[in-house]
Amino acid sequence: MVRMEPNAKIRQADLPSLEILRYPDPRLKEVCTPVDAVDESVRALVERMFELMFASRGVGLAAPQVGVSVRLFVASPTFEPSDRRVYINPRLTALEGAQEGDEGCLSFPNIYCKVKRANVATIVALGLDGAEFQETGEGLTARIFQHEMDHLDGRLLVDRMGTVAKLANRRLLHSLRDQFAAR
Ligand code: ZN
Repeated sequence: MVRMEPNAKIRQADLPSLEILRYPDPRLKEVCTPVDAVDESVRALVERMFELMFASRGVGLAAPQVGVSVRLFVASPTFEPSDRRVYINPRLTALEGAQEGDEGCLSFPNIYCKVKRANVATIVALGLDGAEFQETGEGLTARIFQHEMDHLDGRLLVDRMGTVAKLANRRLLHSLRDQFAAR
């Protein structure tokens, strides 16, 4: 048995060629593994993820969405270029209240549907400096936390859709599956 190099999955990724995967790419369904260490490879991946997220006008992006199945996501709830939040090996420690609102996902272009989420969410994660921090988010920020945590466990927007939302988005989902099959 050979000891794996730390962050092997991240080091194997060719950062410039990364792109946002779309449903139903099977890599979106993988359960992600923890980041081994917060090192240069993680900082480079995060930088690339922010580039892709801002270019696609997203407010959150999880590593599995760019084909790297490690437990990490980035976010910018205000969509300000200076508002760059990084969550490494995150876990939700408290959920309170309820909200129901439209939710979208960069892996499901043009699809928005009502998803029930907790209104307040507390997350504990490592930052880019390797130190653990805790943050409590409300409204959109809490929604982003819960949506991105879903990605790390291979759970997608389509898995959160009720029957009505699935029906309403049937054509768009179908066309995404067609596009994927035709690649
Ligand atoms: Zn998403």
